[in-house]
Amino acid sequence: MHALATAAEALASTTRKTQKLEILADYLKSRSVEEAAASAIFFSGHVFPVSSERTLQIGGALVWNVLQELTGKSEAEMSAAYRRYGDTGAAAEELLAGIAPAESTLNVLNAAEVFLAAAKTSGSSAKTNLLRELLRHATALEAKYIVKIITGDLRIGVKESLVEEAIARAYDAPLEDVRRANMLLGDIAETLRLAAAGRLASAAMRLFHPLGFMLASPVASAEEAFEYIAAAVVEDKYDGIRAQAHVGGEPRRARLFSRTRDDVTASFPELEEPLAEFPGEVVLDGEIVAWDASAQRALPFTELQKRLGRKKVTDELLRSIPVAYVAFDLLYAGGELLLDRPLRERALLLEALFTQRRPAPSRRVRQGQGKLHFDGEGEPVGSVLRAPQWKAATPTELDQLFERSLARGNEGLMIKDPESPYKPGSRGKWWLKLKRELATLDVVVTAAEYGHGKRAGVLSDVTFAVREGDRLLNVGKAYSGLTDSEIAELTQWFLEHTLADEGWRRQVEPKIVLEVAFNAVMRSDRHESGYALRFPRILRIRTDKSAEEIDTLDRVREIFEKQRV
Ligand code: AMP
Repeated sequence: MHALATAAEALASTTRKTQKLEILADYLKSRSVEEAAASAIFFSGHVFPVSSERTLQIGGALVWNVLQELTGKSEAEMSAAYRRYGDTGAAAEELLAGIAPAESTLNVLNAAEVFLAAAKTSGSSAKTNLLRELLRHATALEAKYIVKIITGDLRIGVKESLVEEAIARAYDAPLEDVRRANMLLGDIAETLRLAAAGRLASAAMRLFHPLGFMLASPVASAEEAFEYIAAAVVEDKYDGIRAQAHVGGEPRRARLFSRTRDDVTASFPELEEPLAEFPGEVVLDGEIVAWDASAQRALPFTELQKRLGRKKVTDELLRSIPVAYVAFDLLYAGGELLLDRPLRERALLLEALFTQRRPAPSRRVRQGQGKLHFDGEGEPVGSVLRAPQWKAATPTELDQLFERSLARGNEGLMIKDPESPYKPGSRGKWWLKLKRELATLDVVVTAAEYGHGKRAGVLSDVTFAVREGDRLLNVGKAYSGLTDSEIAELTQWFLEHTLADEGWRRQVEPKIVLEVAFNAVMRSDRHESGYALRFPRILRIRTDKSAEEIDTLDRVREIFEKQRV
């Protein structure tokens, strides 16, 4: 970890790209392949490979509490250090100076292991313990970069493309091959491993070797979607499991790969034959959903879940929870890798492919030892469908489609740029997702904190409460959703209506009412209310509402109970 931190410092101290490249390549070369692979992810500004679904879920407050525990510093000292840098990592280094061990004993892989363990646990106390243990063993400089990696802001002027160049240089591989492998895999660590082993060519497109998946960025509203895409291609967002289908070979077969690139075909045996009916060799992208054939619509994920994790897919399961593969993209067909073609062309080719399918007249889903299987009506059970596409050019059109998607029981919309290439492993603004909110709550702000980075000087992070009788009980903290000018105005108001100044945080008069959206309600021992909103976003300031009119704790409980069914 010491070597990584030293390299990061050197990277931060120069703006010259050639020098950065040299530092990075020298660093990678000096490490074991596994250390270099983990570092490649960190230097690209991520904690886990982009293609992984893992998230750390360690917020600034948790880091802050751990730092306070380790340093024993007062709130005032802590917030003074923070405000000097506007960066928790840099503040951590200063706060830990003279307290942290002087000798480095940590390895990059120790940090990677702790991040993985933290991502796997959900409780904040378990995460706190893990982070405390890690930071306790770190030197002040190492702590600086551990915190920076966690907060996702290295500020060393390195982009993933530079890491690709460094890999090429460190392992003496052609840059083109590195870029191509990373493009196909969507995993910089795996790319580095292949480069180190001289096996980049194995990342070439080959049937039954899954490519990385293109990912979507969330948007909060139809309006926001049009900030990124002018005329959108729109599909329903199906609530199932993402799967890449590979079809071809001799004898002809079909395989389904999950986001983690595992072969999941055995869990969905009824999809094999219908997929194999596509002509030639093809690679499709789509979603496996539990399917109601009579209503021709997807069922909620909870249905599909009943089939997952079962060792054996029994006939009974096949019959009671039929599935469909809803295809929405085409990555490879007719011997051509289609990733660089725009979505509108890939969509036409996918359309054509569906018309060329030749269902074997005797197609039935195989059962057990290869016998034929019918459902009650004698219909084949597994279906392969093309996800219907619409076009939208205005927020109103998008809102209508959104409503219809929800009415069909789907999760919302995927909004895609028709000109976009297929970027494996990348989460950009070419694909956007607009999801149904679980619910919204009207809450009142009880405290405000100074933000990070460019928001270090403004009170942008707000803690908010719901009502229980006369009491206000906090249920969460949000720092996204407001515009800069709203934040500036609120900061002024908070400064003038402070009840207690805790340095980095101010208790404020409970007068500002916000409408917040969130993804779920969780049990929490952090708040007195016993609940915390997951991923809260501020939708708007409710100047039309007073604090007496906000939502109650009963309402929070109700949403909590409802989401469990
Ligand atoms: P989320 O899991 O909320 O991050 O949303 C992204 C996921 O939505 C993708 O990884 C897919 O599994 C899924 N999805 C559902 N419908 C579509 C669609 N029409 N296009 C792309 N992804 C979809």
